[in-house]
Amino acid sequence: MPEHDLVVIGGGPGGYVAAIRAAQLGMNVACVEQEGALGGTCLRIGCIPSKALLEASELYQMAKSHLSEYGIGVAGVTLDLPAMLKRKDGVVSSLTTGIAGLFRKNKITRYTGRGRIVSVGKVAVDGPQPAELTAKKILIATGSYSAPLKGVEVDGNLIGTSTEALSYPDVPQHLIVIGAGVIGLELGCVWARLGAKVTVLEYLNRILPGMDTEIATEAQKILQKQGLDFRLGMRVTSARVVGGRCVVECDGQSPIECDRVLLAVGRLPNTNDLGLENLNIARNQRGFITVDHNSFETSIPGIYAVGDCIPGPMLAHKAEEEGVACAEGLAGKYCHVNYDAIPGVVYTDPEIASVGKTEEQLKDSGIPYKKGVFPFLANGRAKAIGRAEGRVKILAHAETDRVLGVHILGAHAGDLIAEAVAAIEFGASSEDIARTSHAHPTLAEAIKEAAFAVDGRTIHM
Ligand SMILES: Cc1cc2nc3c(=O)[nH]c(=O)nc-3n(C[C@H](O)[C@H](O)[C@H](O)COP(=O)(O)OP(=O)(O)OC[C@H]3O[C@@H](n4cnc5c(N)ncnc54)[C@H](O)[C@@H]3O)c2cc1C
Repeated sequence: MPEHDLVVIGGGPGGYVAAIRAAQLGMNVACVEQEGALGGTCLRIGCIPSKALLEASELYQMAKSHLSEYGIGVAGVTLDLPAMLKRKDGVVSSLTTGIAGLFRKNKITRYTGRGRIVSVGKVAVDGPQPAELTAKKILIATGSYSAPLKGVEVDGNLIGTSTEALSYPDVPQHLIVIGAGVIGLELGCVWARLGAKVTVLEYLNRILPGMDTEIATEAQKILQKQGLDFRLGMRVTSARVVGGRCVVECDGQSPIECDRVLLAVGRLPNTNDLGLENLNIARNQRGFITVDHNSFETSIPGIYAVGDCIPGPMLAHKAEEEGVACAEGLAGKYCHVNYDAIPGVVYTDPEIASVGKTEEQLKDSGIPYKKGVFPFLANGRAKAIGRAEGRVKILAHAETDRVLGVHILGAHAGDLIAEAVAAIEFGASSEDIARTSHAHPTLAEAIKEAAFAVDGRTIHM
C-alpha cells in the first residue's frame, strides 16, 4: 500500500498548487485526479479555454468592425471557427501538459482515477488501476460543477453548460444564456462577437450580482450596445429541446425558441461520493465543506479542503492562495489568506475588475467612506488606443483614508486591478496611491487620478 505524507484529491488550481508547494517543502506527495489531464476546471474547461476564445473573438470583431476606425482597411475578414477552436484546444493542452511536467519535476506521484476517502489516513483510487493509499494528511480539492436549474433539461448538446459553450461546432443563430453572472456574460460575448444573436435571461433586476452596482449598470449599457439583449427579472421555468429546437419558458412570458441554451446560474461544490458522509465531515447548507481558515482543516482532524469546494469566491487564484497556505500550514509555517484582497475579473470587453468592498457593502455595514471616480474618457492613453469607455472608482475610509474597495470598468481592467490589490494588501491609503508616480501615458494613470478624486483634486478633470 503506497504511503504518502499528503494525498491530494483533485488536480485543479487548489490541488495541484498545494501538491507542488507541499513537495517543495519536503513532503512525499500524491495527487489523485479523475481526468486524464491535470489543471482542473480552470485549465481544461474554465479560465483558460474561455480566455482563448474571448481573445480570438475580440480580434475577429476588431478586424471586422473596428480596424477602419484606426485607418486600417481590411477586406474579406472571415471566421474559421474550427481553427479558432483548435487554437483554444492547443493552448489548453500545452498548459495541462505543463502541469504534468511540474509534477515530475517536484516528484509528485500522480494517480489517475476517482479518489474516495475510506477513513482518516486512507484514500481509495477507483479507476483503471485501482489503488489504496495511506496518507498522513488528506487534502480535498475536488472543485465544483455547473449548478442545475429546475425545469432546464441539460442534454449536453443543444442545452448545455459552459463546457459545451466552449466548443459549439458552429455559431448558433440565436443563443439564450440563462444567468447574467461572469460565466454567462463572458461566453455570451464570445458567441455574440462571432455572429450569434444572444439573449441573456436573468432572474434578478441587474447583471453581475455581487459586483458594485454603479459599475455593473454602466457595463450593462456597454454590453447592450454590443448587441447583448438583456431580459432582467425573468424566472426561467423550463428549457427543453422540441423537434431539434430549444424552447425556453419564463414566468408570465411567451415561450422563446432558439438554437442553443447555455445554463450559467452558478456552480456547486463537488462533494458527493467522496466518502464524506461516512466520516461526517461538516458541510454548510449548500454543501460546501467548512474549514478552519487558519489551517484549512475540516471538522475531521487530518483532512483538509481548499478551493471551490469550500465557501468563498469560486476563483482559480483564490483556490491557489488556499493551496499554498494549506501546504505551508502543514509544514508548520504561517497559514493565511487575506480574503479582503482577492480580485475578481470579468473578461468582457471592456473588462470589469474589482477588489475589496463594493459601495453597497460599505453602505450596508455603515462604514463611512469617501469615493473618487475618474473616467477613462479623460485619460490620454485610453483616447490614443481608442478605448475611452469606463471608469475607475476608489472607495476609501472617510476618516483613515485606507483603501477599502477599487472597481474598474475599462480596457485591461484585469491587469490594472493588480495595483489596487497590492494597495489593499499593504493597507495603503488613497493618498499613498495619489502620491505614487504612474508612467505617462498609461491607463494606470486613471487609478492615480481616481485616488486624487477621493480628495476632490483631480488634475485632468
Ligand atoms: C467557464 C469558466 C470560466 C472560468 N473563468 C475563470 C477565470 O477567468 N478566472 C478565475 O479565477 N476563475 C475562473 N473560473 C473558475 C475556476 O475555474 C475555479 O474557481 C477553479 O478551477 C477552482 O479550482 P479548484 O482546484 O478548487 O477546482 P477545479 O479546478 O474544479 O479542480 C477540481 C479537480 O478535481 C477533480 N475531481 C473531482 N472529484 C474528484 C475525485 N473524487 N477524485 C479525483 N478527482 C476529482 C476534477 O476532475 C477537477 O480536475 C471559471 C470557471 C468556468 C467554468
